[in-house]
Amino acid sequence: PAAQPERPLSIVDESWEILDPSPDVRAMFLEFNDMFFWGKLSGVEVKWTSCVDIAVRCFFFLFPQTLLHEMIHALLFVTQNNRDRDGHGPEFCKHMNRINKATGTNITIYHSFHDEVDVYRQHWWRCNGPCQNRKPYFGYVKRAMNRAPSSLDPWWEDHRRTCGGAYTKIKE
Ligand code: ADP
Ligand code: ZN
Ligand code: ZN
Repeated sequence: PAAQPERPLSIVDESWEILDPSPDVRAMFLEFNDMFFWGKLSGVEVKWTSCVDIAVRCFFFLFPQTLLHEMIHALLFVTQNNRDRDGHGPEFCKHMNRINKATGTNITIYHSFHDEVDVYRQHWWRCNGPCQNRKPYFGYVKRAMNRAPSSLDPWWEDHRRTCGGAYTKIKE
């Protein structure tokens, strides 16, 4: 049965989370399943998609939000056979808002901390040179500010030597 909290639900600042850097994921899953998902997810396995991302979120104590995000996908799969992990439509948002409201969490539609930060990077440039096909940037520069790549960038000289292409603005 679900734990009955005496004070308003707050799952982000529970002391055990802060004390234990690797909380028992399965136990948390089962507890959230009772509290927020009507026990419908008992048959679902907790699966890691990105350990690094999880580690980053643990560090910022955002882990429960990541788990709840995945559990909403699991719910949509169990109840509507919706396997679309990129689907963050009205159904997803309904549950996201419901749980955020009840708990003060900040579950988002983003799958990684990086994606969350990325939405603020609205100014994009792309190189027309061979670095288009190279890891890790594939020729993209994405910035929050409208500051075009230039010789002021510490990597400019390195890029000129290894690629030699020119940047053009592709999105703002
Ligand atoms: P911000 O864009 O947040 O100001 P930076 O000035 O450090 O951060 O720019 C980082 C971006 O610059 C990377 O995301 C990448 O797009 C680009 N970049 C960095 N190093 C290189 C490089 N050696 N060659 C090509 N592009 C690079
Ligand atoms: Zn998602
Ligand atoms: Zn280039």
